Amino acid sequence: MGLFTKDIKTMDDLYLHVLQDIYYAENQIKKALPDMIGKATNRDLTAAFKTHLEETEKQIGRLEEAFQLLGKEPEGTSCPAIDGIIDEANEVAGEIDNKKVLDAALVAAAQAVEHYEITRYGSLIAWSEEMGRDAIAKLLTTNLKEEKAADKKLTSIGERKVNLKAAG
Ligand code: ZN
Ligand code: FE
Ligand code: FE
Ligand code: FE
Repeated sequence: MGLFTKDIKTMDDLYLHVLQDIYYAENQIKKALPDMIGKATNRDLTAAFKTHLEETEKQIGRLEEAFQLLGKEPEGTSCPAIDGIIDEANEVAGEIDNKKVLDAALVAAAQAVEHYEITRYGSLIAWSEEMGRDAIAKLLTTNLKEEKAADKKLTSIGERKVNLKAAG
C-alpha cells in the first residue's frame, strides 16, 4: 500500500489488506523460527519452536485457501509490526551471552509474535463473520486456536523451565 495514496477505500479493501498483512507476517515467522530453534537451549523450548514451525507452515496453507475463497492470488503486504518484533528479538539476542537468559529472551520474543498474530486473526475472524465469510472464518479460527495454544505453552515453559533458571 502506498503511503501517500488512499488505496484502502472499502471494508473489502481493508479486509484484504489485513489478510495480506498476516500472510506476510506468517511467512516472516516461518523464516525466523529456524534461527530461534538454533538459539534455544532448553529442550522443551526447542521442541515448542519446532512444533510451531510445522503449525506455521500449515497456517500459511490455510491463508492460501482463504485467498482462494476470495478469488485472489495469495500475496503479502509489508508488515512493519512483525518486522519490528523480529528485529528487536534479534537485537536483544545479540546482546546476550548467558544461554539461560537467552532462553528467557526467546520466550518473551516468541510471545510478542503470538500476541501480534492473535490480534490479526481476531479482527479478521470478526470481519469474516460480519461479512458472511464463514468458510474463511473457520480456517482463521483454526490458526487463531494454534496461536493461543502456542502462547499458553510458552507461558508454561517460561514459568516452569526457563525464567527461574535465568534468574538463579
Ligand atoms: Zn498498506
Ligand atoms: Fe502463525
Ligand atoms: Fe502488520
Ligand atoms: Fe504463531
